Amino acid sequence: MRIAVLSGKGGTGKTLVSVNLAAASGKALYIDCDVEEPNGHLFFKPKNIQKEEITVPIPKIDPTLCSGCRACVDFCKFNALAYVRDNVIVFEEVCHSCGGCMLICPQKAITEREKSIGKIQKGVSGQVAVRTGVLNTGEATGIPIIKRLLFEIKSENKLPVFIDCPPGSACIVMESIKDADYCILVAEPTLFGVHNLSMVHELVKLFHKPYGAILNKCLDGENPSETFCEEQGIPILGRIPFDVELGALNSNAKIAAWEEGKYWVAFSYLLEAVTKEVRREATAYSQR
Ligand code: SF4
Ligand code: SF4
Repeated sequence: MRIAVLSGKGGTGKTLVSVNLAAASGKALYIDCDVEEPNGHLFFKPKNIQKEEITVPIPKIDPTLCSGCRACVDFCKFNALAYVRDNVIVFEEVCHSCGGCMLICPQKAITEREKSIGKIQKGVSGQVAVRTGVLNTGEATGIPIIKRLLFEIKSENKLPVFIDCPPGSACIVMESIKDADYCILVAEPTLFGVHNLSMVHELVKLFHKPYGAILNKCLDGENPSETFCEEQGIPILGRIPFDVELGALNSNAKIAAWEEGKYWVAFSYLLEAVTKEVRREATAYSQR
């Protein structure tokens, strides 16, 4: 069971949901794909950390072979190359490591070198295996880090997996949900929350992923996100009430399900609802 947890913007409760569902699972694998701002590890405080550097290939120009034809500069769609004062300059931060310039160079003047863009960290917290991706500041894309983080779960994995996705609906989020069996959309009870929810809703529909919503910070009275779910036929997996105590635990990077019995019960119910829905979808899929 590979569950991706998404939200249209940060601060909606995506990490609260993914961290607590993983904690309530007992044995689980929690993967933080929010590589620009990973904070799940602050909650889990994993031990026995193993680090792995993630590198990407970057073009390296041999000026003794380069004829100055500029074919590589014209080819690069990311404007990562420029020809200045008889030299090809590489802007590493915007290079997408496609390797095209190397293939196109008629003089074979371009080779590649490895450049670090960040790292992944593996550790354990109780029975939860915790994986975190960290993108170095200023790098163009965290996709290579996410690919590496999710590489191992493509093969058989017995543990339930909770993927804490980056916020929004950009390509980095698409990469995070690609191999998920089910997507949870976390939404706030405001009109702005509806706007964010509709963005991720479009994305999961595009990827033909089964999905459901968890409504966070629910208050008495009207909830525009709930209305949106009803109108769009989005199953509501659960509602987390607006709760000062829960908010305080969360701001102090505490895992509510591990701190208080009542939250353990609440997140266990939520997990049960999610698991039931994933199984229902899996059965429906096998009968199609
Ligand atoms: S394509 Fe090759 S030869 Fe032409 S400018 Fe680029 S590096 Fe130099
Ligand atoms: S590897 Fe691709 S993105 Fe990078 S400089 Fe070459 S053509 Fe541009």
